[in-house]
Amino acid sequence: MSNQTLNLTPTVYDYLLKVSLRESEVLAQLRRKTQELSDSMMQISPEQGQFMALLVKLTRAENILEIGTYTGYSALAMATALPDQGRIQCLEINEDSIEIARQYWQMAEVNPKIDVHLQPAITTLDTFIDQGKQNTFDLAFIDADKPNYPNYFEKALTLVKPGGLIMVDNTLWGGQVADETVNDADTQAIRAFNERLLEDKRVDISLLPISDGLTLALKRQ
Ligand code: SAM
Ligand code: CA
Repeated sequence: MSNQTLNLTPTVYDYLLKVSLRESEVLAQLRRKTQELSDSMMQISPEQGQFMALLVKLTRAENILEIGTYTGYSALAMATALPDQGRIQCLEINEDSIEIARQYWQMAEVNPKIDVHLQPAITTLDTFIDQGKQNTFDLAFIDADKPNYPNYFEKALTLVKPGGLIMVDNTLWGGQVADETVNDADTQAIRAFNERLLEDKRVDISLLPISDGLTLALKRQ
């Protein structure tokens, strides 16, 4: 027994997957396909995908904003959990990874629920704000370039409804955020983001030690 978050050994991690992971065949195929790429480490883990799908159902989300889609695993996991009328807006700059994503979204028959915006995410977020989409999203997932996290968070906070949830990925950043000797741009950005969020009274927060750290921020009413 432990009253601290358990340090997952490979054995315990394998056990966790064995007794709880329900990954669909298409998600598993997309994960295998992505593993062929040199940057496959960017993909979320399958248990995180399952957790995010559960959050989609728990919050009864219908309108989702995803910032950073890559080959589409997180979008596929969330889209599968959405009702028929639900939609995800996927913000991504890499056309090649979206080409892969679309193949698997089609196989899972979720492509009608997904709109892709292929340009810098800030541009799309500003367009949404110009279009008056403030307070319209139920859920947002931030997982693109780390130095822009503060900008993505501010715009996502404008776009989600009061009571809406923002999920921010990689907030433990391989543990490097806790190591003062590591000071590259990405580490510094996530460290500063975490410190600012602690003081941010506009949201209730929890940093979950799932995968590489996933922060949940609930927009206060
Ligand atoms: N959520 C994805 C998944 O589960 O597989 C992983 C996303 S990956 C960590 C980050 C993605 O953000 C990359 O595909 C990258 O091309 C994209 N990205 C980086 N800078 C961006 C920007 N300025 N605007 C939009 N997308 C960007
Ligand atoms: Ca990530």
